[in-house]
Amino acid sequence: MEGIYFDHAATTPVDARVLEKMLPYFTENFGNANSQHGYGRRAVTAVDAARDTIARQIHAKPSEIYFTSGGTESDNWAIRGAAHALRGKGRHLVVSAIEHPAMLATAKELAKEGFDVTFAPVDEYGTVDLEKLKASVREDTIFIGVMTANNEVGTIQPIAELSAFARSRGIVFFTDAVQAAGSLAINVNDPAVDMLAISSHKFYGPKGVGVLYIRSGLKMGKLITGGHQERSMRGGTTNVAGVVGMAEALKLAQQDMRERAEYVSGLRDRFIRRVLHEIPYVRLNGHPSNRLPGNANFSFRYIEGESLLFSLDLAGIAVSSGSACSSGSLEPSHVLLAMGLKEGEAHGSIRFSFGKDNTVEQVDFAVDRLKEIVVKLRALSPLFPKDCKNEVMEKE
Ligand code: PLP
Repeated sequence: MEGIYFDHAATTPVDARVLEKMLPYFTENFGNANSQHGYGRRAVTAVDAARDTIARQIHAKPSEIYFTSGGTESDNWAIRGAAHALRGKGRHLVVSAIEHPAMLATAKELAKEGFDVTFAPVDEYGTVDLEKLKASVREDTIFIGVMTANNEVGTIQPIAELSAFARSRGIVFFTDAVQAAGSLAINVNDPAVDMLAISSHKFYGPKGVGVLYIRSGLKMGKLITGGHQERSMRGGTTNVAGVVGMAEALKLAQQDMRERAEYVSGLRDRFIRRVLHEIPYVRLNGHPSNRLPGNANFSFRYIEGESLLFSLDLAGIAVSSGSACSSGSLEPSHVLLAMGLKEGEAHGSIRFSFGKDNTVEQVDFAVDRLKEIVVKLRALSPLFPKDCKNEVMEKE
C-alpha cells in the first residue's frame, strides 16, 4: 500500500479543482490587485469575487472579511488588535487553556505588556468549563477567545453559550475556527461572534492564506501596518492566487460538508472502534461524541508518542504526536495536561486525523500495523509491567 496520510489536522493537500482556479493568477493574471491598469483590475476583480464567496459561506458581509497569511496571523491580530484598541476600557483578557499556541503565546506576550490574562480551564474531555470561565470575568474584561474546536483532541466547544455570555456583558468574543472550517458549518451570526479566524490549508486550499472576520463597527487595532490593502487595516500585497484558492476550497467544503463529514466520521469511528477493542491500555482523548469528524487522539500507555510516530512513519503511515506546531519539541501536550492527563499519558498521545480521500482499506491497514508496532514497543519498554500481557486482540 502507498503512503497513508492521517494528518489532515496538520494540513491537507490542495484539491485539484482549487489548484485549477489558482493557476492563472500565477501566470497570465499575475497583476498586483492595487495597480491601476488592466493587470491590476483583473487581479482585484478576482480578489473581490473571492471575498464575496467567503463572506457568503460564513454569512458575513464582504467588508467584514480581512485576508491574512493564515490562522496564526488571524489569531495574533484578533487578540492583539482587540487588546490594544480597548485598553482604555480594561486590561483583562480570557482565553481557554487549550487554545492553539498562536493564541496562547500572544496572550503571554500581552501579559508582559501589562495585560492580565486568565487561561480558562477545561474538563476531562477538553470542553471549556463554562461556569469557571464566567466566574473569571471581571469589570475590566475586554476579550474572550475560545476556539470552535480543538486541533489536538477535536473537542467541539460550547460557542453559542460562550458568545451569548460575552456579548451580554459587552465583551468582545473571538473564536478560532481554523480546525472547524471545512468540517462544521460556520455562521458568524449563529452563534453571533465578533471575530473569527479561518485558515485555507486545513480545508484543501493553499497554505499561507487565511481570514480574520471582524464584525463591522468593532473597535480594532492593526497588526501589520503598511499599505492601504484590506481597507487600510492590513498592509501587504494581496496573495491573489491564495485568496482565489481559499474561496474555491471553502465553497467546495461547504457544498460537500454533510457528505464529507459522514464519510470521514465513518472512517474515524471504525478506526476508534478497532483500536479500543483490539489494543489494550489505550485511552481515547477528547470528547467521545462531540468531536470533529476527522479526529481520533489516543494515549498508548507505556509507549512514547514519538517512538510510535516514527515507527508508523517507517510503515508509511503519517500521523502527529500532539500538535504539529509543537512536535519539534518533546514538551507534553498543553491540551492533554489541561484535561488532567498525567505527563506519561500526555507524552504517549498520537493524533490520527482523517480526510476525504482516505479509505476503509487504509484504516484497516493502519490498525493492523499499529497493533504490531504497539506490541513491539511495549516489549522494549522498561515501563511495561512484567505481570501485564503484551498482546492484542483479533479483529472482531
Ligand atoms: N489555530 C488552530 C486551531 C490550528 O490548528 C492552527 C494550525 O494548526 C492554527 C491556528 C495556525 O494556522 P496556520 O497554520 O494557518 O498559521
